Amino acid sequence: MLISRTCFGADKEYCKMLFDAGYTAVDINDTSHKPEIFLQSEDEQFQFVKNAVDNIKNAGLAIGQCHAPHSISLWCSTPKEVEQRIVAIENCVKTVSKLDIPYTVIHPFVFAFNNEAENPEKLWQFNIDTIRRICKCATNTTICLENMPGTAGVIRTGEDMARMLSDVGDPNLMVCLDTGHLACQSSTATDFFAAVGDRVKTLHIHDSIPGQDLHLLVGEGRFDWEDFKTVLKEYNYQGSINSESNFVYNVKGELRLEGQILERKILEGFVK
Ligand SMILES: [Zn+2]
Repeated sequence: MLISRTCFGADKEYCKMLFDAGYTAVDINDTSHKPEIFLQSEDEQFQFVKNAVDNIKNAGLAIGQCHAPHSISLWCSTPKEVEQRIVAIENCVKTVSKLDIPYTVIHPFVFAFNNEAENPEKLWQFNIDTIRRICKCATNTTICLENMPGTAGVIRTGEDMARMLSDVGDPNLMVCLDTGHLACQSSTATDFFAAVGDRVKTLHIHDSIPGQDLHLLVGEGRFDWEDFKTVLKEYNYQGSINSESNFVYNVKGELRLEGQILERKILEGFVK
């Protein structure tokens, strides 16, 4: 089973450190915060992702997943900006499909973190239509839809996720379980897997506390990790074990390698 870590800037040095720390894969996240790349020429888009892919593979690591550009808040964006962002996500998925990356993670479109949608049903339908558009671009990668933090918006729980999967109606659409986002909702892996366990193909493992999305190291927040470990076994989860904590970004110098090793050991503990 692959032990993977999200990576903002999959440069050669960072990939080598992950290899030295005992990881077996990297998750490409450079793509999530650079939507402008995916509005450039096809060749520029391809070279951008291929550069990360080459650095990862040359370090002896596999690729766990790629994160598509984040959706933007519908609260403060013009229709043109929203459409551009959808196109950037579609283009990212098309590019990823050319590079043998098994999974591409997408977020649903939401209103600002804690702002209620003025018309929840309209927002829900907007997401159905958008996710269908994005799925059509995935010719050689599997789209995984991620659960969200925040007290408003869409897809907060396993039940929300099950309803969206059913409404989108694409049997190839799968799920990325983000544990920190679930902690934000005071929910558990048991509840999430009971709703969509057979569709969970990727993970974003990090910890948090109710009402906040903090991307903490496992154990620093309130998520029920014993429950999580039990559920992975119960459902015979076969995907990679992917961390999305911010923990190591605060660790400098030589200690950084030790930090990566510490987190890798915690991740391995979930599948022992
Ligand atoms: Zn996530």
